[in-house]
Amino acid sequence: MRTPRPILLAALLFAVSWGGAWAEDIGDRTGTITPAALGGRPGANGWSGEDGASGHPLMTANAIRQAAADFHPCLERLWPLAARRGVSRASFERLIAPLTPDLRIMDLLDSQPEFTKAVWDYLDVLVTDARIAKGRAILEKYRTTFDAVERAYGVDRYIIAAVWGVETNYGTISGDRPVLRSTATLACVGRRQRYFRDEFIAALDILNRGDVRADRLIGSWAGAFVPTQFMPTAFKRYAVDFDNDGHRDVIGSMPDLIASTANNLKKVGWVSGQTWGYEVVIPANFDFLSADHHQTMTVGEWERHGIARPDGKPFPHPGDSAFLLVPAGVQGPGFLMLPNFKAIMRYNPAEAYALAIGHLADRLRGGGPFAQGWPRYERVLSRAERLELQQLLERRGFEIGEPDGRLGLKTRDALRDFQTRIGHVPDGFASAGVLERLRGR
Ligand code: CA
Repeated sequence: MRTPRPILLAALLFAVSWGGAWAEDIGDRTGTITPAALGGRPGANGWSGEDGASGHPLMTANAIRQAAADFHPCLERLWPLAARRGVSRASFERLIAPLTPDLRIMDLLDSQPEFTKAVWDYLDVLVTDARIAKGRAILEKYRTTFDAVERAYGVDRYIIAAVWGVETNYGTISGDRPVLRSTATLACVGRRQRYFRDEFIAALDILNRGDVRADRLIGSWAGAFVPTQFMPTAFKRYAVDFDNDGHRDVIGSMPDLIASTANNLKKVGWVSGQTWGYEVVIPANFDFLSADHHQTMTVGEWERHGIARPDGKPFPHPGDSAFLLVPAGVQGPGFLMLPNFKAIMRYNPAEAYALAIGHLADRLRGGGPFAQGWPRYERVLSRAERLELQQLLERRGFEIGEPDGRLGLKTRDALRDFQTRIGHVPDGFASAGVLERLRGR
């Protein structure tokens, strides 16, 4: 396996949130926006020439070389899809003629970080005093735009600013790769061709229509661009021309950017007038099996199960439905999550990122830090250990899907069943201690 090269923090965060403990594979989640992404080391465009770490047949060095040799014929085979979108033959040829595959992306696609970060490490990095101060400055600077966007879309300004802050630190982190080239590469080389075919066609369509200038359509290696990390298909679906100049220019126009982000959140289910969730205190002897994405109750019912806010304040809307999330197990804080948390997750499918977005929004609004501490003494399992944990669960007959070193919802459920069986609190937290117990027999 290649050694991962986490040169830049954002690149590391990106790799982790795509492949790490908190992420589910983005799969066919079209319409989501990928996490803050950098395309890797600037200037280091060379492919390693090695087999990918995933072991996928399309990621072997030979398969990559063959696909790269077939790059232009492959793009040509996508012409009918482009034509169906109204791209003219002349602009298709003009746009694809200069393209070459960017094979360094294959290394990035298959980098599987050895260590992932704990949820508290993400929050430490993504919700800082500096980011809070900068977010407040941005809210002030674009106050009239935020006023108008809130009126038009019913999406809370603090959430929009927090998406912007978490994804790219308000636009100060940006990618360094032309989106058309990245998506063309991924559409024709490697293991995610189907997913990226649509992204490539959408990128062609954006350039063909002149929504965004080609020299400004720059983004992450996976094709996410602009301060709030739109994928091309998400742009096609959600971008709006809020300043009415005839272009949906989410790069050059702040009103277009802010309104498009709001429109995206609204279209994936943002409920006006509701928050995303609340930090909660979980009583001793609580039944942690009810802490599950699929088990919703009203906030009032949760209260009757002993769930309370840390400051003892009443919940403002006891009738809202919520599920309980316990991201770091029994030793860490709990969260009652409202439907808006799921909307944020549709925007960015990594749980730790979604929590950071919600928390940053609350801080921008004037709220304080979380009241309860995190179990910072817990060591985060290495990739080999995560894989071992899954294999040990599988060997004991628990259903975890394909062991892949990613601790998704299935693994969490299996872990909770195992914890129940051995008389532990079933919080689903993959600690070093629970791995020891799994090894024990
Ligand atoms: Ca515009």
